[in-house]
Amino acid sequence: MAKVRNWQLGREMDYRYENGKAKRQFAAVFNINRCIACQTCTMACKSTWTFSPGQELMWWNNVETKPYGGYPQNWDLKTLDLQEKANPGGQVWNTGKKDAKTAPYGTFEGKTIFETADQVDKMATGYIPDEADWKSPNIYEDVATRFPKEGVSLPEHSGWFFYLQRICNHCTYPACLAACPRNAVYKREEDGIVLIDQGRCRGYRKCVEACPYKKSMYRPSTRTSEKCIGCYPRVEGTDPLTDGLPMETRCMTACIGKIRLQGLVQVGDDGLWIEDRQNPLYYLVHVAKVALPLYPQFGTQPNVYYIPPRWVPRDYLRQMFGPGVDDAIAAYENPSRETLAVLQLFRATQSIIFSYRVVQGPKSGELRIGGQTREVFDDTVIGFDSKGREIVRVAVNEPVIERQGALAFAMNTI
Ligand code: SF4
Ligand code: SF4
Repeated sequence: MAKVRNWQLGREMDYRYENGKAKRQFAAVFNINRCIACQTCTMACKSTWTFSPGQELMWWNNVETKPYGGYPQNWDLKTLDLQEKANPGGQVWNTGKKDAKTAPYGTFEGKTIFETADQVDKMATGYIPDEADWKSPNIYEDVATRFPKEGVSLPEHSGWFFYLQRICNHCTYPACLAACPRNAVYKREEDGIVLIDQGRCRGYRKCVEACPYKKSMYRPSTRTSEKCIGCYPRVEGTDPLTDGLPMETRCMTACIGKIRLQGLVQVGDDGLWIEDRQNPLYYLVHVAKVALPLYPQFGTQPNVYYIPPRWVPRDYLRQMFGPGVDDAIAAYENPSRETLAVLQLFRATQSIIFSYRVVQGPKSGELRIGGQTREVFDDTVIGFDSKGREIVRVAVNEPVIERQGALAFAMNTI
């Protein structure tokens, strides 16, 4: 095992290989608060990549209802359980030791799936789901923890559920890659996308077992494992649709709820994101700190980040997204002028936005939110491509157009 730096854990950790080789990293932010579980993303992915025989139960993108849903069923509970058994009572964070760049959430003092693996003679602790676990991808959809007799209110609802959107995290330290005895899994230097070489794979399912997110899947008809390929022709700009521009994946661009923003971030030799304040992903993760990794304690340094749902009990969210939850929700509930502008870039264009600029406009009004007065400004946010050319321009304060009375009456009588 080598020693690598995991900034999400605020410390070094053991991993099979030296530091990740990617110079640029595929990354995304999902805003859970906006998802309506329409599953358009799920079908966009399936109809593009996994519609063939042997792929019937293969959903590279899925949207599950938490806390009870999961694809495969109970994937997260089972891995959390294995980790707890390997290190009873020790899976804790020390939030007293923070550093903005190298330990923004504090330090994880427990063990990752790589660090408990020596006790089970594997590269990473994991399990292989049963066939039945894969059969109901949307089990417990819309099932809440309870049905309150009275109404619910913020900050935490007494009966709750939320939608969790999941794809492969194209992890910085992929467990699938570490576990493969055939070296069939590899991470691309140019964008950090993790792929399985179908020619080398022999279907041993070590990647399926090791991936804590269960995003590597076995295909019985070919006896190989397959996984999300990050729509790499689109990200490369080689898909005929892209006109040479790096374009976001199918699941991102199809999103009805405008909850997804995907891009590429620069990574330094130390494995940290190179400071790039005007990259919208860098801004949301490292400056505004409004978006958090999913189960960072597993140790793979996942590259999909989530804006946590603000109505859900904080204890539940902390075990899922780490100790940054309270700050992230505070930043989302009372967004700065800049955060509000960057949030408008979600699904404003299919092209990857490499940088943005906010053009400040005049004050146009005031709103009362949560007992506080907020000023509203007519700002504009502009997105630029990899060559610095403008590709999108969005008004932060969308105009409200009132239909004229006579016209409204005419429409109502049709
Ligand atoms: S989410 Fe799983 S399949 Fe994807 S890169 Fe990470 S470990 Fe591998
Ligand atoms: S398309 Fe967007 S809104 Fe619809 S389920 Fe997927 S992530 Fe949620």
